[in-house]
Amino acid sequence: MSLAIHWFRRDLRLEDNTALFHALKSGSDVRCIFIFDTSILDKLEDENDARVTFIYKEIERLKAELKKLDSDLWVYYGNPIDIWLTLLTDYNIKSIYTNKDYEPYAIKRDNEVKQLAGKHQIAFYDFKDHVIFEESEVLKDDGNPYVVFTPYSRKWKHLLQTNPIEVLDTTPYFSSFESKESAVDIPTLIDMGFKESLTTFPSRTTTQGKVKNYEKNRNFPAIQGTTKLSVHFRFGTISIRAKALKALSTSETWLNELIWRDFYIQILYHYPHVVGNSFRAKYDAIQWRNNESDFEKWCTGKTGYPIVDAGMRELNTTGFMHNRVRMIVASFLTKHLLIDWRWGEAYFARQLLDFELASNNGGW
Ligand code: FAD
Repeated sequence: MSLAIHWFRRDLRLEDNTALFHALKSGSDVRCIFIFDTSILDKLEDENDARVTFIYKEIERLKAELKKLDSDLWVYYGNPIDIWLTLLTDYNIKSIYTNKDYEPYAIKRDNEVKQLAGKHQIAFYDFKDHVIFEESEVLKDDGNPYVVFTPYSRKWKHLLQTNPIEVLDTTPYFSSFESKESAVDIPTLIDMGFKESLTTFPSRTTTQGKVKNYEKNRNFPAIQGTTKLSVHFRFGTISIRAKALKALSTSETWLNELIWRDFYIQILYHYPHVVGNSFRAKYDAIQWRNNESDFEKWCTGKTGYPIVDAGMRELNTTGFMHNRVRMIVASFLTKHLLIDWRWGEAYFARQLLDFELASNNGGW
């Protein structure tokens, strides 16, 4: 029997998953795989990195869910190109299904896998799943990408009227999962050079009240008034479509936050130079003061400015920081301490549980 492979990445869920939906409907048996990518993991410096534990637990959950359906999750550890080389030789694979990832590294990786699949006469299908509107779907009337949020969001909302959000029900097709146990053992965290982090992760369920009262509470860091769903959007453990649909009927203010997310993802897609460079080249000429001792105080929450220090200590302890405080500490670092935004961006990238290249870079 030929196989369709569903390759999980930023879409760690069985429900309302676009690529998985199409794989299950393809008529082939569907095998689900996940790769712990060494080219990403090897760059992480902290063996207690909470993001790795988060993904690990979600992979264990997915595996258990698939086992309940008499199927399994095949989990690998290594360089994705090497893993695919082996898979394409070892199994009778007809097609590969996956959801798009818009970061420069991921685009390059996926192009390589697509080429490899082509050499083996295997179809490679990738889908929009991580965002509501992708790539060049929201453009200005002159055909250029938006670089300012408000007009982008207006066009985004306008487009939604003619392209309503559709939530995909995968459950009727669950019988298409391959009924076979995985022949590979799931690597342990220790095998991969990490330890289990004791961080408490935000829940992916309790949000209804938060969204309803969002407008009223969202500006007050002392109130638990935002959803803390960012880590779940990041790894696709919840569906952006399902949440955006709810937002449409509950809170336009919260919907706007989801649009910010799409906005920054399309900025990174169209302007990949923002990784490492200012959006506008003239700002690369700024002479930063870059005082290392000031930076150390900022990182450790010892600047003497209570709101800045509270935010940085929250970040260092929990991996989370309220949006308004992220804005304050970022402004403080760049405009008060005159330290290069790239230093702050890199520190956030190490510490944030919800670290996501596009939103972090956009925020900075
Ligand atoms: P809520 O307020 O409940 O919002 C719902 C969702 O909307 C969030 O989960 C997130 O997916 C999205 N969202 C909200 N605000 C923004 C925003 N300004 N930009 C993009 N998406 C948004 N967000 C990340 O997900 N990852 C990051 O690495 C990240 N780095 C940031 C760095 C800086 C300097 C700044 C100012 C903001 C950053 N943000 C980042 C955006 C925002 O602060 C977080 O998404 C938000 O605080 C997460 O909390 P929440 O889930 O309770 O959000």
